[in-house]
Order: sequence, then structure tokens, then C-alpha cells
Amino acid sequence: MQLTFLGTSSMVPTKERNQIAVFLSYGSDGILFDCGEGTQRQFKITGISLTKVTKILISHWHGDHVLGLPGLIQTLSSMEYNGTLEIYGPEGTKKRMEKMFEAFIFDKRLDFAVKEIKNGIFFENDDFQLEAYRLEHGIETLGYRFVEKDKRKVDMKKVKKLGVPEGPLIGKLQQGSSVEYKGKKIMPDDVTYMEKGKIVAYITDTVLCDSCNKTAEDADLLICEATYSSKLADKSEEYGHMTAKQAGQLANKANVKQLVLIHFSARYKNTQELEEDARDIFDNVICAKDFMKIEL
Ligand SMILES: [Zn+2]
Ligand SMILES: [Zn+2]
Repeated sequence: MQLTFLGTSSMVPTKERNQIAVFLSYGSDGILFDCGEGTQRQFKITGISLTKVTKILISHWHGDHVLGLPGLIQTLSSMEYNGTLEIYGPEGTKKRMEKMFEAFIFDKRLDFAVKEIKNGIFFENDDFQLEAYRLEHGIETLGYRFVEKDKRKVDMKKVKKLGVPEGPLIGKLQQGSSVEYKGKKIMPDDVTYMEKGKIVAYITDTVLCDSCNKTAEDADLLICEATYSSKLADKSEEYGHMTAKQAGQLANKANVKQLVLIHFSARYKNTQELEEDARDIFDNVICAKDFMKIEL
């Protein structure tokens, strides 16, 4: 799994920071969290093809999270794109998408499906599930959670010790079935172990609330807004945002392993103040930069 931070600014982009967008690449799936203005060009710069995007998850309809959608979809429409682009968002997303297409003259050659989601699991396959929880930002806003499924792994040393040849028998063991080899029954637990799936949480924009905990619980990586430092806590609350310190508190309470801060107010030329603000509470924290990558 690889995460690429395509944009890390809040409402106003800066010379160094584009509006918000984070891309999660997992197998043949490409999940784009939000799509701020200019996201398609950020893709170009990183060298990731737009055709890799299979799902777009919109947190809410404030411009800084969606202004890149029409451009990205228009370009994608002119490319060779296999399958259906899935677009998920909070209540009202369908209508807003329709209005968006009304406003522009589109040569729409792309298949896409728009789905509105409420609370809980909204997508599941053999490898992972996606969950959404309603946050508190004054308008319908969702926090997202990518949960990789636990996987059974074969311990090749143990397999070799028993003399099981490579091939279908090992495949069966990996699927959790017992096999017989040379008259001896081998149980999956004899030669395999379970590897815990990874969890990535994406939280922006919101005030600190119970749903933040649900979204972030036990995450290996929490990507969380830190629009202001705690010096501007009043302003932060007033505009429905979290401070860096609150992001640290959340990471701590939700038993998160690593915290990456995003969605910075343009007033912070340097994000050190924000990083330190969060680190007061939670140690394993960094501020994202545009084009930063994390492997999980
Ligand atoms: Zn925002
Ligand atoms: Zn917002």
C-alpha cells in the first residue's frame, strides 16, 4: 500500500501546497481522498496516471475539497479508462455532481457511478473494506477509514520442514483448508499465521468529536487535519476545524500508530509550530508535504 499526498493546504493554496488530495494505491485499486483544485496536475507531477483512480471519496462539498473534480473527470474522460469510476460522498453528492455537469460543457465519455453514503461500511471486497463516519463541520462531512483484511501467510520454513512441495497444496493451506500429504493431515494453523491488515483513517474537516474516534480507532496511519495550532483554538472551533494539538489528542486516545497532519491554513509558511503542537501530546507525528509518499 502506498500513500501519496497530492495536496496539503486548506482553503487557499500556497506556492508549496496545493489544495487537499491524498491518493492511496492498493493492488489494482486507487482511492483518491478529496480532490482539491489542481489535483490532476499534482498527479502529473508525481508520475501517477489518472487512470489509476478507481474510487473518489469526497469528505464534503467545500470548494477546497472538490474544485478539482470537473477538471480531473474531464481529462479522465479523454483517456483510455477501463471500468466505472466510483464517486462516494455525503448526502447531497448526487445533486451537486449533476449541477456540476450542468455548469460545464462536457464530452462525457467516462462511465461513473455516484453513491451517497451515511454511516458505517459502504464498500467491501476480499482485500479491504471502506467505512465512513459523519463528522461535525456545519455541513454534511464524512471521515473515511480503509481497513485491510487480515491475511493468512504461509511460513515457508515450516512448509519445507514437512516436505510439502510448492504448488496447489500450499495454496490450499493459505486459503485456510487442511491438506493431506504422504498420508499425513496438515492443518493450516500448523504452517500458516495470520497477518493483521493495515488501517488508514482520513479525517478532515471537523471539530474533535466522537466520530473522529470511531474513524481513527487503532489506525496504523491517521491522516488528520491540523488547520491551526492551539494558539488559535478559538478560531479553529469557530470555523469547525481541529488544531494540531487536538489531532495529537485524537491519535493518542484512538490508539493510532502514526499521525500525519494535513490541511494547513496558508498562514503557516512553516509547519514546525503545528508539528510541535501535536507532538506535545503524540510523539509519532509529521506534517505532510505535497508529493510526500508513505509505504505501509
Ligand atoms: Zn477544507
Ligand atoms: Zn470544510
